[in-house]
Amino acid sequence: MDLIATSSNEVDINDNGETGILVVGAYGGSKRSEDGKTTIGKQYVNPDQAEKIEQNGGNTAGQFVKHEIMESYNAMNIGKGTHTAKTTEGNKTYFKAHKKTMRLDPKYSDKGLKKDLGISVPGYNIYFHKNESTGSAIELFRIQQ
Ligand SMILES: [Zn+2]
Repeated sequence: MDLIATSSNEVDINDNGETGILVVGAYGGSKRSEDGKTTIGKQYVNPDQAEKIEQNGGNTAGQFVKHEIMESYNAMNIGKGTHTAKTTEGNKTYFKAHKKTMRLDPKYSDKGLKKDLGISVPGYNIYFHKNESTGSAIELFRIQQ
């Protein structure tokens, strides 16, 4: 599989030109290799964001990476293994694979990931992590609306 580490907060999510906001990790679907012999899954991870969350007492960066790898693996074990992210079928596959991956790492939590859509800073969507125990909130990134 391809695990793409990027400092970008927005990524190409499929081959149809659609992009998606990258909040720590993202599912990018899977397709057959050019020789047709293998299935290649694609996931994204933003290590800068992962590190901020680890420092705020959330999941460790390693947990995020493990989650993305297992999520891709689980998704490729659904149906024929190839799925286009952001389509109806791709979204169903993603949710199934994500849930299964969550069960495999009970300590992993995405509850602290929050967004503020233009409320505290008009014109900006701010993505942040809130430590549910300490209440500490840190900004991960912001995107102009
Ligand atoms: Zn996931």
